[in-house]
Amino acid sequence: MLAAPKISSFNPPRRILMGPGPSDVYPEVLAAQSKPTIGHLDPLFVAMMDELKALIQYAFQTENAMTLAVSAPGSAGMETCFVNLVEAGEKVIVCRNGVFGERMRQNVERVGATPVMVDNPWGEPVNVDDVEAALKAHPDAKFLAFVHAETSTGALSDAKQLCALAQQHDCLTIVDAVTSLGGVELKVDEWGIDAIYSGSQKCLSCVPGISPVSFSPKAVAKLAARTTPVQSWFLDQSLVMGYWSGDQATGGKRSYHHTAPVNALYALHESLRLLAEEGLENAWQRHAQMHQELRQGLTELGLDFVVDEQSRLPQLNAVYIPEGVDDAAVRSELLNRYNLEIGAGLGALAGKAWRIGLMGFGARRENVALCLKALQDVLK
Ligand code: PLP
Repeated sequence: MLAAPKISSFNPPRRILMGPGPSDVYPEVLAAQSKPTIGHLDPLFVAMMDELKALIQYAFQTENAMTLAVSAPGSAGMETCFVNLVEAGEKVIVCRNGVFGERMRQNVERVGATPVMVDNPWGEPVNVDDVEAALKAHPDAKFLAFVHAETSTGALSDAKQLCALAQQHDCLTIVDAVTSLGGVELKVDEWGIDAIYSGSQKCLSCVPGISPVSFSPKAVAKLAARTTPVQSWFLDQSLVMGYWSGDQATGGKRSYHHTAPVNALYALHESLRLLAEEGLENAWQRHAQMHQELRQGLTELGLDFVVDEQSRLPQLNAVYIPEGVDDAAVRSELLNRYNLEIGAGLGALAGKAWRIGLMGFGARRENVALCLKALQDVLK
């Protein structure tokens, strides 16, 4: 017998999360998560899931029937799109302007498909002309995949234009909206996005670990026309939908697929309800406004942005670390003295930039003021 370890309850401090995510969770969302757990097939829970679906549809601005929350983080949402839609031997144009485009490439390779890379420098948006050239050069490509909001650099790409191009070339689009959803304009149906995934822990200010996804009717048709089974059992949408919507075999009755993370779905329901109450456009506007205030203060502190103004994400502000400043020392001072977390640089920007998040509940004036004051003190 192993002796029982003597460990007390975990009591995390109350931090202010201004990194690349997770962001500060709304107090209402934390409260929702601690409500009593009920069965994942309880009629009341199933009714809550129907509301959740309608809320995700609102956030994505879509009427797609295949809209749900994957019971796992954004990476599983990414994988859901690739494993369900892309088959071995197919060609996918993948845009890479940071860490997450590279992960898309790895997903494409793992399903046995061929990625055609469109590379743009870190800190720049996906270049629409380069994508058009790739679409022309590869008329056999079936998909265009890109990251709407590149969290590793803070660059926003023009999803509307990229989707229009993909449609002209008869390609389905796979779009990463992990950091964009709720923070900047995103219109799935109007822009013609075919498969999209996000994450609960960024501008939705929900607890981490859930990924809203949505497939257009064209994407659903592609899935239905597969000649090989989806190699991931857990992420196979045709099976998951038996739980989210019921299936014909059971007369529309929902069937057990996996045990849903019941309390985490209460949390997502509440965070999306708060978004709907605020109104999407108001939320986008609030992120833009808070970014302007932060930008002004950061500029006054002499910090330079990684991304040009016209493609800058309001919710993810990447700034260069000034010469001679100790990156890790500043971040730990902020954490220890102010309980404030900002993000380190990632990939090519590791050690070179800080990433300051203004996401969801975190995109508010007191956070901007605290961050600027704390940085000013610490940089002194
Ligand atoms: N895509 C982007 C753009 C992200 O920023 C992240 C996480 O930061 C992911 C995908 C992966 O999401 P998760 O960490 O929830 O698995």
